[in-house]
Amino acid sequence: MSQTIKAVRGMQDLLPEKKARFRRIEDQARRVLDQYGYQEVGLPVIENTHLFNRLVGSTTDIVEKEMYSFKDRNDESLTLRPEGTAGLVRFVNEHGLAFNQTQRLWYTGPMFRYERPQKGRYRQFDQIGVECIGMEGPDIDAELLLLCARLWRSLGIDQQVRLELNSIGDTASRQAFSAALVEFLQDRREELDEDSLRRLEGNPMRILDSKVPTTQALLSGAPELKDYIDAESQQHFKDLCAILDAAKLEYRINPKIVRGLDYYNRTVFEWVTDSLGAQGTICGGGRYDGLVEQLGGKPTPCVGFALGLDRLALMFEASPEVRAKVQVYAISVGDRARREMMAIAEAVREETGLNVQVHAGTGKLKAQMKKADTSGAEVALILAEDELAAGVVALRQLRGTAQQTTMPAGDLPEALRNIFE
Ligand code: ATP
Ligand code: MG
Repeated sequence: MSQTIKAVRGMQDLLPEKKARFRRIEDQARRVLDQYGYQEVGLPVIENTHLFNRLVGSTTDIVEKEMYSFKDRNDESLTLRPEGTAGLVRFVNEHGLAFNQTQRLWYTGPMFRYERPQKGRYRQFDQIGVECIGMEGPDIDAELLLLCARLWRSLGIDQQVRLELNSIGDTASRQAFSAALVEFLQDRREELDEDSLRRLEGNPMRILDSKVPTTQALLSGAPELKDYIDAESQQHFKDLCAILDAAKLEYRINPKIVRGLDYYNRTVFEWVTDSLGAQGTICGGGRYDGLVEQLGGKPTPCVGFALGLDRLALMFEASPEVRAKVQVYAISVGDRARREMMAIAEAVREETGLNVQVHAGTGKLKAQMKKADTSGAEVALILAEDELAAGVVALRQLRGTAQQTTMPAGDLPEALRNIFE
């Protein structure tokens, strides 16, 4: 026997149960996004590597060590997108959707990062990204947060997630803070962990985010970002908090939230849960007012977030099955009955919208009845020799009282509607 081929490390297969959870989340998200007037767009999974290199000054973890980049047959460097915002901004610039107009857009699909695989962290994972173009906020910042909260409620997980909010000010305030932070940490270099040392050069603010306890202890005496925020950003943040208070949306201001990508400014936020261990952030986002211009467009204020479907789906692992149910199981015995049942099942689907599973292939009546039972269907339709001879189909209720009646095929839709209504 030849050796079996396995999936690539970190690339998940989604078995039906898991895929059904993804779908449920996506369906709810689509409904909520419709309610707020957001439009879905489709973006390619592959972009030019330049896009990401330009995006972040190349010092963030994603660009430094997590990208899947490769040369195509034309020797062009391409990258499997590690996140969606850069591609979306490229998209709005390319189609002239950013300048002098506003957009509320969203997309979904896989992202790729070369990370160490573990629970809630994969090398291919799915996100829903939501981005608002051309609006300064803070009302639109608040809208996005209210939209998230509505989604959590619709999924029944609002008690398990909380909102953490921060403002990181404008570019100048961040630069001033970064300089002060570097100065503070320079003298304590030997106490820093390896990752933080590397960040000290390129992306010092990210050190605040470090999960290493000794680094966190070191930071307790460090300069604080809030003391460096410019007045306008402070006002923006105050106004945002006032809107959230009025809408009774709870949040915690967490000065440690800086986000992994350095295109953010002003508002940044994360939705976190305690139920997933270390991978507790299910959704993150913020303002990125400079990015459209950085990628070649006119200055345009923007805000957005991305939520991780894989982590959200993990939160439903303990909850009951969400797979689509078979409602009607169609049984037939003999070649002629098999042909006719195929057509009858089509007519039932057409007229009732019920989920009908047809027994494929041959089999004894008794064996097929067993399959009908394990399929979870409420009703079996049976077409065997007796029914064929009488020109009817038998309709058998599989749960509770096992009633069986017969009727011409044309009467099935109505009889089924009565049972399932
Ligand atoms: P983390 O700090 O956990 O690495 P991040 O800041 O890199 O997260 P973002 O780039 O903000 O994450 O992506 C938004 C969301 O996408 C995250 O909150 C998370 O739910 C999900 N996500 C990010 N990376 C992964 C991954 N490797 N596997 C599964 N989900 C992920
Ligand atoms: Mg990450």
